[in-house]
Amino acid sequence: MTKTFFHKIIYSGYYISYLLSERFIHDQKKKNNIAVNFVKYNNKLVLKNLKKENVKNISILLPHCIQNYDCKYKITSNIENCIRCKKCKIYKFLEFKEKYDVDVKIATGGTLARLYLREKRPDFIIAVACKRDLISGIYDAFSQNVYGIFNKIVDSPCINTDINLDEVEEVLKKLYCEE
Ligand code: SF4
Repeated sequence: MTKTFFHKIIYSGYYISYLLSERFIHDQKKKNNIAVNFVKYNNKLVLKNLKKENVKNISILLPHCIQNYDCKYKITSNIENCIRCKKCKIYKFLEFKEKYDVDVKIATGGTLARLYLREKRPDFIIAVACKRDLISGIYDAFSQNVYGIFNKIVDSPCINTDINLDEVEEVLKKLYCEE
């Protein structure tokens, strides 16, 4: 059995267990330990298998819901349209873009995210999403290098969600630091 096939079986096991467990949880806000463990397993594997010298293009994929709900600037077509008013954390990703030379894409849904990945073909992706989108995204993208980070649902799902910026920067530093 090849290593890839072995990992694919583990991914499938996690994914099916996640789908079954959500039938009982039924709430995007509630923590799902299977989802957490799946993302941990995936992230560890992605970093372990990483050959930094092969990583030339890094992309950060963000959900639209982290943009302030009342913001009138259309950042889905281009994040540079953000005027950095600091009402949400999008402006921080403009800083990451400049500091680490990464591409940042705001995806309005799974289909557009997949299209972006197909066209851009990044060597490494930091994907931020809610548990449902993150789990299906990581599962579908196997065996691409997708490092997953959950966004935080503050009030309602899909509106004004939050993100731990330190977690994102920690991964970027890992990719850029010399070891
Ligand atoms: S930081 Fe950017 S995206 Fe967020 S509310 Fe201000 S202009 Fe809009």
